Amino acid sequence: MSTIADGHVVTFHYTLTDDAGQVLDSSRGGEPLPYLHGAGNIVPGLESQMAGKAVGAKFKADVAPADGYGEHDGNDPQPVPKGEFPPDIPLQAGVQLMAQTPDGHAMPIWIADVDDQHVFIDMNHPLAGQTLHFDIEITAIRAATDEEKAHGHPHGPDGHHHH
Ligand code: ZN
Repeated sequence: MSTIADGHVVTFHYTLTDDAGQVLDSSRGGEPLPYLHGAGNIVPGLESQMAGKAVGAKFKADVAPADGYGEHDGNDPQPVPKGEFPPDIPLQAGVQLMAQTPDGHAMPIWIADVDDQHVFIDMNHPLAGQTLHFDIEITAIRAATDEEKAHGHPHGPDGHHHH
């Protein structure tokens, strides 16, 4: 478990900033984030730069849009009447939904805005088209359990969380 490789549960602190240096998200001040390395739990451009790092490592990782949340397709959010959404969905900006394409694939979409009658749906992740600047500190590395490997995600700090 000395360095990060596939099949390890890695816990890390991160601060994410944009090109202007504005903080978009951070785990600091809260719990560090666990992920299962090699399972695509985090954006590919960050996962690849985690490989080989040891506990205590601190580093910066810049991730291009294509290796982060994707390029922006250039389309503005599209209005959809509120009545087309099931009543149990929270209609708020920033909420991610799963839509179904005509050929039956699940596709993530995001609520960009809401007015009296419409929900504005964006096909782009809120961070699409942005270069991501991560400031990372690795806080723990352990072997994943068989159950975690089967599920493709970590089960809490000790691996014994059931769900
Ligand atoms: Zn699970």
